[in-house]
Amino acid sequence: MNDADSRHLSSQLEALGYTHRTSADEADLVVLNTCVVRQQAEDKAINHLHRLRVTKTERPEMTIALMGCMVGMKEAPTLKKRFPFVDVFMPPSDTEPLLDYLSDHGLFDTDRSFDTREKALRDAIQDEEFALPSGLRGQSVTANVPVVLGCSHACTFCIIPYRRGAERSKPPADILREIETLVGQGVKEVMLLGQIVDRYGTDFDDGTDLAGLLQRVAAVPELARVRFLTSHPNWMTDRLLDVVANTEKLCPHIEIPIQAGNDDVLERMRRGYTVDQYRRVMDRIRARMPDAAINTDIIVGFCGETQEQFMDTYRLAEEMQWDKIHLAKYSVRPKTIAARSMPDDVDPDEKERRRKMLDDRQTEILEAKNAVLQGQVVEVLVENNHKGKWRGRTPHNRLVFFEDERDLTGQLVPVHIERTAAYTLNGHAADRRPHAHAGAV
Ligand code: SF4
Repeated sequence: MNDADSRHLSSQLEALGYTHRTSADEADLVVLNTCVVRQQAEDKAINHLHRLRVTKTERPEMTIALMGCMVGMKEAPTLKKRFPFVDVFMPPSDTEPLLDYLSDHGLFDTDRSFDTREKALRDAIQDEEFALPSGLRGQSVTANVPVVLGCSHACTFCIIPYRRGAERSKPPADILREIETLVGQGVKEVMLLGQIVDRYGTDFDDGTDLAGLLQRVAAVPELARVRFLTSHPNWMTDRLLDVVANTEKLCPHIEIPIQAGNDDVLERMRRGYTVDQYRRVMDRIRARMPDAAINTDIIVGFCGETQEQFMDTYRLAEEMQWDKIHLAKYSVRPKTIAARSMPDDVDPDEKERRRKMLDDRQTEILEAKNAVLQGQVVEVLVENNHKGKWRGRTPHNRLVFFEDERDLTGQLVPVHIERTAAYTLNGHAADRRPHAHAGAV
């Protein structure tokens, strides 16, 4: 979400005459886009802010804007007191406060001015709103496209509903316009984003749903692949799974968090399902797509989690054979239901022990799963060159590296896998004639 918001804002700023600088020390305007989903991310943002305070002391004319979940829907007044050197505060996905500030202070290329400064601003950003920043045009092979903003689920551990607001879907026409613009600038794969992306359209009353949106997105010419995340077990319909299974460009890659493998913990988290219900969703996915990559999120050390409850999660990982686990240690997030009513009673060392134990086991599972691919040919959408090797992903979202002297950015290339590890595959191009826009295989 933040990646998409940053891209969107960069394009708007370029339309106003700003250019990119690699260092904050050289910039007239610095925007810090923040995540506070875990304490660690928040600490990082605060450290950045302290560094910016020093820069601003040396160059008081510099504008500093703080964006994202740290600001949330209503934290700006508190943050202004804590960080008075910050000029602008922007909630997630809302660039208006900064655009208004720049307009009010005449801080954009006034050559573009029309009748009023406000009109100049709006006109200047109109056409560029969804475009990639110039440095990424023709270079950015993948792009994240938010389709559902906010979340109304209120899991007890989660800060997102407090910071990103209530759930709302973006109109299909806006999403398609954004994707067509991105594709026109070289993007080959889009990831549709929502906190519960499967709920897309439930706030419209015309039958719009994620399955229908995915079909329309998949029909965009020149777009090679489409993914979506994050799913919720209660909202994954058969219709959605059928569309994913039967539409060539839709990747067989599902992100469906379980968070814990024990019913008591799930109930305290207020996730809204049991382990058995989750198991049945997995069965429904695998009945349609036996080889689908299914990824999950797990939090270890949630309030009151006993060793035995953790072991239920550990055993479930063995059973489910997920293709990736996004693993986190629980950290208290302010104002959440858990912060208000449940003691954070698992010792930090014990949280780390559980995280490592699960991570080690999952690494072994992935080593075994990826080893099966040795000697096979996989289709890779090439994203960029990394230290002399081409880097890309398979439809199942596996990371592949291979060497080739040609510029293959944005191409679909069959790659023969020679070496495998838990998180990467290595090989060489199997076909010397990569085809530009074949569908995902
Ligand atoms: S579904 Fe739960 S975990 Fe996901 S964003 Fe909403 S409240 Fe947070």
